[in-house]
Amino acid sequence: MSQMASQNIRGRQGTLEIVDVTDTWVKPVPDLDPVSATYFRAAHDGTLLIQRCPSCGATQHYPRHVCRTCAAIPEWEAAGGRGTIYTFTVVRQAGMRGFDADAPYVIALIDLDEGPRMMGNVTDCPVDEVHIGQRVQAYQLRIADGIGLPQWRPGATSD
Ligand SMILES: [Zn+2]
Repeated sequence: MSQMASQNIRGRQGTLEIVDVTDTWVKPVPDLDPVSATYFRAAHDGTLLIQRCPSCGATQHYPRHVCRTCAAIPEWEAAGGRGTIYTFTVVRQAGMRGFDADAPYVIALIDLDEGPRMMGNVTDCPVDEVHIGQRVQAYQLRIADGIGLPQWRPGATSD
């Protein structure tokens, strides 16, 4: 059992669009541990979680047992799901079962408005129109029972 209280999540949850692909998903599914299970379960339910340290205030992603700055126990926080593309690549030859059909597709590093940097796909946009500095909005792919995967599409506002 994780020391983190997964029930104690700050911020509004379940605000992101959910696209359910559980019936057609053929790509790998994340192997869950006590920390990542909280993250992927929240994603399944339309929430993008980050961790914020109650001691030093640092935010982080991917989820860890401790704050990477001061080693305190981090708290969960629901992010707004808005971010900016820091950098990206276009995959034109995937070479892995389940990914070939998507090529060409974009893998990007997204700087969340809350601070952490996440990796994810940018969809719903021609790959040649994706660019550094582009505002993107998260949505959640529901890929299996209890597991969601954050994805991104253009269109986040800066508020
Ligand atoms: Zn800390």
